[in-house]
Formats: sequence, C-alpha cells, structure tokens
Amino acid sequence: MILEHGTLKTILFDLDGTLYNSAEVRDKFAEAAYHALAKLKNIPVDDARNLIEETREKLRAKHGFPVPYTLTLVRFGMPVETWHKENISFFDPRDYLSANGDLKEMLNGLKKRFRLAILSNNNEVQARRILEALNLQDVFDRVFTYNSFRTMKPDPEFFKEAAKAMGVKPNECLVVGDRYSVDLIPAQDLGMKIYEVKGPEDIKKLITALLSVA
Ligand SMILES: [Mg+2]
Repeated sequence: MILEHGTLKTILFDLDGTLYNSAEVRDKFAEAAYHALAKLKNIPVDDARNLIEETREKLRAKHGFPVPYTLTLVRFGMPVETWHKENISFFDPRDYLSANGDLKEMLNGLKKRFRLAILSNNNEVQARRILEALNLQDVFDRVFTYNSFRTMKPDPEFFKEAAKAMGVKPNECLVVGDRYSVDLIPAQDLGMKIYEVKGPEDIKKLITALLSVA
C-alpha cells in the first residue's frame, strides 16, 4: 500500500495494540474491568466477568466489531472516571513492558518530517506509564487520551479535537491504529488518511508506504 502524503503534516497513533502488543497487559486490563464491575455491583468477580464478556459478545454481534471494555462498563452505569481510578490502581503496565529501540528509531525518523501524537482511549496515567515503559515518552508532541476531551474513539469529536489541537485540517492527518472500526473508520469519514497495523512491527511497513512516494 502506498500512502499519498503530499498534504500530510501530522500522524496520530493509537497506543494499545498499535505501538505495543502484550498479552499480559491485555489480561490485566480485562481483569481490572471485572474487578471494577464486581465492586460497583457488589457481586463476585466471576459473575462480573461473565456479565462483561456476555455483553461484549452481544455488542460484537450487533456492531460487528469488539467493543472496548470501557464502553462496555459505561453501559453498566460505571462512570468513566471511576473505571480509570480502578484501572490505574489495579495494575502498572510498566511491570510488563520494556523499551523498544527499533520502534523509537523509526518514530524519530518520522518525526523529522511529521508531527506525531498519540490518540488513545486509555487514561492519561496509564498512557504515560506505557510510553515511559516503551521509552517513547519524548517522541510525541502531544498525548491525547480520554482525559483530553472527555470522549473516546469511535466518537468523531475525539479525532476533530485532536486535529484542532495540532493546528491541522483533517486531510493533513494520518491515523494509525489496530482496530479498524474504532480507530480508522471515523477518521476516514472525517477525511483523514488511515493506516491499519497489527502491532509495532507494522510501523516499518507504514514508513515504507510513506517514503515510497517521497
Ligand atoms: Mg488499539
């Protein structure tokens, strides 16, 4: 795939599943959700797990894509702030992640030509911890999380606000993410360019795609 990037100024990267892949972090995130719901409803953790996974299964069948845990919890009446607090105290991603030198080098290469930002549904604290663990804390001009605009993907507002904050028009943005329906479709609908990856190893392909038309 070749990306026409004559007008590109900014690249917005999803974080989880895009700049790192970790089964441990994924599991901890899910477990945190089960514990948070168990506490909210005063039910056993196993019951909370079943409730959440059954609901996610139904939502997946209805929408055709896996719905983020955060949106699932909101449907159970959990305030997003409460969930983030539970999530932050439940686990520290720095215990499971380590620096990715190759990725840092690739991103620093891109940084010479484009302004880079994170666009994550995660909360600010966890996103910062993850970037620190990956040793990417100095790479991005901005880190947009749920806390930035109190909204999350796939809400188009999140993408619009991030572009505005970067001082660019939607067609000057490229969005890179691992979840097509959540990260990419809303961006494409706004006129942003999109690139799907399945993890940090695909960032190399992104660079090839960008540079092949340089
Ligand atoms: Mg992701």
